[in-house]
Amino acid sequence: MKSNVPETFGSMVFNDSIMRDKLPKDVYRSLRKTIEDGKDLDLAVANVVAIAMKDWAIEQGATHYTHWFQPLTGITAEKHDSFISPQVDGRIIMEFSGKNLIKGEPDASSFPSGGLRATFEARGYTTWDPTSYAFVKDGVLCIPTAFCSYGGETLDKKTPLLRSMEAISEQAMRVVRLFGNTDVKKINPTVGAEQEYFLIDESVYKKRKDLFYCGRTLFGAPSPKGQEMSDHYFGAIKPRISAFMRELNEELWKLGILAKTEHNEASPAQHELAPIFTTANISVDHNQLTMEIMKNVARHHGMVCLLHEKPFHGVNGSGKHNNWSLSTDTGVNLLNPGKSPHENAQFLLFLVAVIKAVDEYQDLLRYSVAYAGNDNRLGGDEAPPTVMSMFIGDDLAAVLESIENGTDYDAQTSKIEIGVHVLPSFTKDTTDRNRTSPFAFTGNKFEFRSPGASQSISSPNVVLNTIVAEELRQFADELEKADDFTDALNDLIKRTIKEHKRILFNGDGYSEEWRKEAKKRGLLSLPSAVDAFETFLAPKNVELFKRHKIFTEAEMVSRYEISLDTYVKILRIEALTMVNMSHKQILPAVNRYISELSETLQRKTNVANAYNMATSDMPHMMEQELIVRLSGLQDQAYQQALDLAAKVEQTSGVHDALKAARIYRDEIIPAMNGLRASCDEMEVYTPSDRWPFPTYGSVLFSVD
Ligand code: ADP
Ligand code: MG
Repeated sequence: MKSNVPETFGSMVFNDSIMRDKLPKDVYRSLRKTIEDGKDLDLAVANVVAIAMKDWAIEQGATHYTHWFQPLTGITAEKHDSFISPQVDGRIIMEFSGKNLIKGEPDASSFPSGGLRATFEARGYTTWDPTSYAFVKDGVLCIPTAFCSYGGETLDKKTPLLRSMEAISEQAMRVVRLFGNTDVKKINPTVGAEQEYFLIDESVYKKRKDLFYCGRTLFGAPSPKGQEMSDHYFGAIKPRISAFMRELNEELWKLGILAKTEHNEASPAQHELAPIFTTANISVDHNQLTMEIMKNVARHHGMVCLLHEKPFHGVNGSGKHNNWSLSTDTGVNLLNPGKSPHENAQFLLFLVAVIKAVDEYQDLLRYSVAYAGNDNRLGGDEAPPTVMSMFIGDDLAAVLESIENGTDYDAQTSKIEIGVHVLPSFTKDTTDRNRTSPFAFTGNKFEFRSPGASQSISSPNVVLNTIVAEELRQFADELEKADDFTDALNDLIKRTIKEHKRILFNGDGYSEEWRKEAKKRGLLSLPSAVDAFETFLAPKNVELFKRHKIFTEAEMVSRYEISLDTYVKILRIEALTMVNMSHKQILPAVNRYISELSETLQRKTNVANAYNMATSDMPHMMEQELIVRLSGLQDQAYQQALDLAAKVEQTSGVHDALKAARIYRDEIIPAMNGLRASCDEMEVYTPSDRWPFPTYGSVLFSVD
């Protein structure tokens, strides 16, 4: 089947050109105004938009509509309503009003609220985000919306993101104005999220309860071959995978998602998709859709897409590199080193604002990626360490050093003076080599590499936007008051470098030396998600989010409670799945094998007896040794499973969320690891056809 990409691209999106086409001029203009300036849309306009949207959606095969929103579960939610409306004469018409478009009232009682919503008031509201276009998916018109409680508290991932985008625009505007810029009206954070994922065959997936219930393997001895040959990374793409990628791209393109690059990743069965960057909130919406569509399309090809951060022990897990920058509405990337001294001065100010932000809010950045699944990945030798630091490349580091100390930049140029000199041009290559840093400057954007593959990228971007907004606010306050702008700017940049350079690290982030060095520099170490959750409500963080009107304190408390609760729930399901697999599958299977061995042993002994051999003359019997070894491991695993189940049961009675999360971190995870070790060892000595579910090798190499 041939497809015409330019023609299908965005064909399922009620985008700008469709709106211009379908809406009366004045209606189009006031809708644009709402989109650009955040002005409220009046009902008369909304009514006209709704009818045009419905007619268009019906042409695309839609029969239903939904307010598509992002509750704090981390996935998207939709409740379909059909357009049909019965008439007195028994016929039906297809109806959709401005009211339906602007506001929805779903029953919110089953979404996490962290205690914000009293149980007697189950109502919640969804309100249209006109900055993200409506689209048709599976015969349903989806309207991107924000979700809040009856009392107006946010219960979703979109609202704080939109607020943080306003905050950073407001503060960044103050800064660019200081540099004499008058034509810019708005500054948008831009985001491009590289998505990693695994594809495995459906048949092996269905046979493993751990994959089925938890999205990751909880048992499994290493396969003889893993990723050590580096033969998968960027390797030729298998026909089944490429058929999947083709369909995926087509589906994404129809929804206006700018899927751009695709390749095999480091682990067997691992792949990556990167889109072209766009405005932060659209990028977040698109990433949520991308994850959903990846899962659906995989099924069409008899495969299952795993988005878990660490589906397999011993091979690389999956992350989501969040590329982030700031762009003016006139199309200038503010993190692009400029071509004139003036542009460079502005670039350096934005650069040091990000440096200061990452240093002062290490805890929030860590918090924004804290998730039970991601704990299995961060801090290993494959993903950034849990200690935040920032890579800017040697060239830029030398520039900052020259500024800080007033020393010569290199042998060719003298010292760099802000506002006087053009920055030496450094090639992109030298800024993008370090893959071990959690937060890297890659030439004209920052790449935050800690987010996990399954998580929404809303929180990392809320945090990034807000912390950088805060530093820009402080900078603008100082510079607006200055008598001599250039002097004040020089002083500010120099001082910021001096005070925050401890966060800069260009070396190997996986090394033991860095662990020691980071400690010496006083950088925050928050190894587990629970450690990170605990920092969220620190007074400085509450102050920050309140100042920029991102969260009220009550909203922060609710998010904190939900984070802890989710952590406990995920681990509880994992622990119970392990107990279940061990009692119902592993131990009985090993038992059957032991009885088989015993039978063989008995037969061999009978033969020996028949030949009148003395016991001491009997050949050394493998069965005997295996029975002893496996029985020992069985007893051990049985006891470990009992203890684990008891511990989980006991912790269900702990109602303090933080206390419960700590018990999971400190006692239940080690108990899970213990049970796994015993079972994995039994697997090593048990024939594959007796093992009750597919082994690592057969799962990792299941797609041929
Ligand atoms: P690589 O990291 O492989 O060198 P690129 O740097 O071109 O590739 O892009 C990686 C990701 O970063 C892509 O998703 C891309 O769209 C995104 N990206 C590029 N420029 C920006 C920007 N200014 N803002 C946000 N994301 C960006
Ligand atoms: Mg990249």
